[in-house]
Amino acid sequence: MSVSVALYIVPTPIGNLGDLTPRAIEVLSTVSLIACEDTRHSGKLLSHFNITTRTMALHDHNERARAQWFIDKLQAGESVALISDAGTPLISDPGYHLVSQVRAAGFQVVPLPGACAAITALSASGLPSDRFSFEGFLPAKDKARTDKLESLKEDSRTLIFYESPHRILYSLAALEQVFGAERPMVMARELTKTFETFLSGTIGEIRQQVEADPNQQKGEIVLMCHGHVCADDDAIPAKALDTLQRLCGELPLKKAAAITADIYGLKKNALYKQGLEQGW
Ligand code: SAM
Repeated sequence: MSVSVALYIVPTPIGNLGDLTPRAIEVLSTVSLIACEDTRHSGKLLSHFNITTRTMALHDHNERARAQWFIDKLQAGESVALISDAGTPLISDPGYHLVSQVRAAGFQVVPLPGACAAITALSASGLPSDRFSFEGFLPAKDKARTDKLESLKEDSRTLIFYESPHRILYSLAALEQVFGAERPMVMARELTKTFETFLSGTIGEIRQQVEADPNQQKGEIVLMCHGHVCADDDAIPAKALDTLQRLCGELPLKKAAAITADIYGLKKNALYKQGLEQGW
């Protein structure tokens, strides 16, 4: 395979080495240079796949300055791949400045699909996946964390957070304090690894369970919270929502809400609002 001169964004496994795609192996083997978040960490992955391509560090601290160095390489006709320690680069990982500067310099950026903890967790969570918001890591400081959660409290989308073992109890306590103990959530831990676990319940239940079991405080963690549900929405039966959604396929939302309200004896405005929120 020959690769054209471009920056390739290459996701790497989040635990299971079998998740490195054949295309990723091909690109990493063929490019002139691999930009790595940590060359020693990625060296293990690369040597496992017998990839001998030269590596160069690109992390949060040198990314802005180093980007020009990689652009010079592209200008010299060398192709470059970007990887992070695990998962998709740029997703709570370095790469944003490199990609934006490379694009601004007029070079092609080619993304490869692959592992990402947020999407992997969401896909098996059982929480609504039609609309979601990836929020990365919550702030480390108590006040900033609470403020951030306050700003998300009324968001109706499923909320996805990354978390580290030493902050998990603080974050669960803050979620309970701001979102309330009753909101449904799912905690996904050690995805694709031996101890992969999904805990599902209310925020209060999960917090108690994790607090009581130190094993649940270990490893890599994704937290997902159900979005905010308005009091008005509670009153709308699933059947009525289904009718509204079907009618929206044929009619403007206003008309669909009026007909559904008529059939089920519900408030037109509540149905209209729900339709808007769902993007029907
Ligand atoms: N770029 C990565 C991605 O695409 O998912 C994320 C990198 S971020 C620095 C690391 C965080 O991702 C971890 O603290 C954890 O929240 C989440 N994560 C990564 N691997 C995971 C796994 N195997 N299981 C659960 N969460 C994981």
